[in-house]
Amino acid sequence: MRTVAAAAAIVPAAVEEAYEELARRLAEIADLEKVSALLGWDQQTVMPALGAGARAHQRATITRLGHQLFTAVEVGQLLDRLEPWAAALPYDGDEASILRVTRREYEKERRVPADLAAEMSAAATSAHEAWVQARAASDFTLFRPHLEHALELRHRYIACFEPREHVYDLLLEDYEPGMTTADVTAVFDELKAGLVPLIAAISEHTDAVRAGFLHGSFDVERQRQLVVSILDAVGFRPDAWRLDTVVHPFATSSSATDVRITTRYHEDYLPAALFGALHEFGHGLYEAGIPERLERTPAGRLVSLGLHESQSRLWENLVGRGRPFWRRFYGDLQAVFPEQLGSVERELFYRAINRVQPSLIRVEADEATYNLHIVLRFELEQELVTGRLAVDELPEAWNARMRSYLGIEVPDDAQGVLQDPHWCFGFGYFPTYTLGNMISAQLWTRIRSDLPTLDEAVERGDFAPLRAWLRANVHELGSKLTMQEALERIVGERLSPQPYLRYLEAKLGEIYGL
Ligand code: ZN
Repeated sequence: MRTVAAAAAIVPAAVEEAYEELARRLAEIADLEKVSALLGWDQQTVMPALGAGARAHQRATITRLGHQLFTAVEVGQLLDRLEPWAAALPYDGDEASILRVTRREYEKERRVPADLAAEMSAAATSAHEAWVQARAASDFTLFRPHLEHALELRHRYIACFEPREHVYDLLLEDYEPGMTTADVTAVFDELKAGLVPLIAAISEHTDAVRAGFLHGSFDVERQRQLVVSILDAVGFRPDAWRLDTVVHPFATSSSATDVRITTRYHEDYLPAALFGALHEFGHGLYEAGIPERLERTPAGRLVSLGLHESQSRLWENLVGRGRPFWRRFYGDLQAVFPEQLGSVERELFYRAINRVQPSLIRVEADEATYNLHIVLRFELEQELVTGRLAVDELPEAWNARMRSYLGIEVPDDAQGVLQDPHWCFGFGYFPTYTLGNMISAQLWTRIRSDLPTLDEAVERGDFAPLRAWLRANVHELGSKLTMQEALERIVGERLSPQPYLRYLEAKLGEIYGL
């Protein structure tokens, strides 16, 4: 791979000087973003509730400073000077990619006033604290003014840009550059066409899977020790990672060697903590795999959330809910919970953790119905943003759609509209989960053909070949390519729901005898 240093010999001195000046500026901006992320991590893990007021000011200040540095006219001038030089460089090379990603983000950010950027940041911090309170009290009215404010800020944000085909496009592209509302709707429709009959067929055979033994009493400290030992086996490095407990799991990083992941423990339900931790491990591994030479640049920022979610869903589901994984770990699990699982055969456990059953909570949903939770949120987000749905109508709209898509009654807001914190931070994130599911299956097909002995390695507890494949093929790219470009490069096709449908049909068809 070409580096700036290696290229220097053929680069005119003025270009080299301009590139170094731009890189220096971008590195400072990236540092501020990481400081802000760390303050966000602190808020969600250890900050006392009353710290939220000051924290909102602190993050707003950092956002404003970063915004001012990034949108400075000098950044535009440096890009203007460097782009003719970069045009002759390989498209996926570091320099050309850093300049291309920087230009894309510069053109977007410079239209947004610094005051608005700072206000959005402060509002997100305050909204998160209100969400924690509202969720604990199961009272949507405590969160409602914050959601209304978030929506109003998004309308001011959208007004900074030329109108798009769909008003939601601008929000979506902040999480998934290159994808439009129409693109997502088309792949979701194709997915639904395969998924709805599959879920219906499974609902005729619910007797095939028992899962009562996953509910009961599971000592939280023992759960935590088990999670730690499994994370150590898959690739958690104690000298470079942290695991903490939170209300809603997430992952973040300060650098490739300072990765923060989280999970939450349910005393009465075993799978939540482990699969939550594996999910966040997938995110963490992605951030740990960003090449050093892209760190502190916009190409090291992982802008495609679809690719990010493909990494977490891959570890959570394709690895973590697979038979080879439990051939390695089921004995350990039984040893930790002998009263609850000692007499449960491994195959019964495998079926139980793959049971398809409409449920209330997205992050704990099975692999098939999970996507209906996302479709519901994708639709509600669009309706909120276009004004077709008012914020005070949201809980009712949520509950009605849960009834119609999943056939279940929502008993309270905590288990309904208040279960996720994402709307504190904006709109447009949710669809990337289902995009991530689709991408994870496209990658998995390729991984299995490149690593024909993967099952045996996983069964031995050897995850190095899988980590190495992901690093070389996915993590190494950073955000140099868009999600579609990355997929074309890695698997030779664009985004498609078909591999994911084939994977679900094969796995669930076997379990349910379809
Ligand atoms: Zn995730």
